[in-house]
Amino acid sequence: MTVSIHPSVDNGFQPGSDSFSGGTLQCKCDDNPVEVTVSAQTAHDHACGCTKCWKPEGAQFSVVAVVSRDAIGVTSNEDKLSIVDADAAIQRYACRDCGVHMYGRIENQGHPLYGLDFVHTELSDQSGWSAPEFAGFVSSIIEGGTDPSNMDAVRSRLRELGLEPYDCLSPPIMDLIATHAANSAKG
Ligand SMILES: [Zn+2]
Ligand SMILES: [Zn+2]
Repeated sequence: MTVSIHPSVDNGFQPGSDSFSGGTLQCKCDDNPVEVTVSAQTAHDHACGCTKCWKPEGAQFSVVAVVSRDAIGVTSNEDKLSIVDADAAIQRYACRDCGVHMYGRIENQGHPLYGLDFVHTELSDQSGWSAPEFAGFVSSIIEGGTDPSNMDAVRSRLRELGLEPYDCLSPPIMDLIATHAANSAKG
């Protein structure tokens, strides 16, 4: 039995293109879709098992990447966007009609990832976006309803796809967050 992770990685995936410099994301509405223009290549693309990220129907993981907040612009139907949870560290802007999250933004300037927005490049028709590099918050899919006895199979499938599973974020990102914390503590 093959374990399904997410439709954009289940059959393997292409590496990102070095010359790619952005594209547009659209929500799932047939009428008046929200369109977000991303004017840069994304980075740190990963499968995420947390319960907050938007996932397509039936997927166990989301696939999410980051890009500088300056590179994000809402170019159509911005009036359909609203913040899912204004108290969350990441404010996720979702389409009111189809529920798709178009981008997530951190407003706390003291947050280690401030300046980076979160996007789902599967919402784009273009190819060349950065490819997934790892899987984060893997154990959290249990909170999302996955049977704990399936976790060995999920982790081996992720490794088979080249997405090393972590239960938080990848070591380089955890190091970045810890460095920020250490520097803030020094004042
Ligand atoms: Zn929509
Ligand atoms: Zn997540």
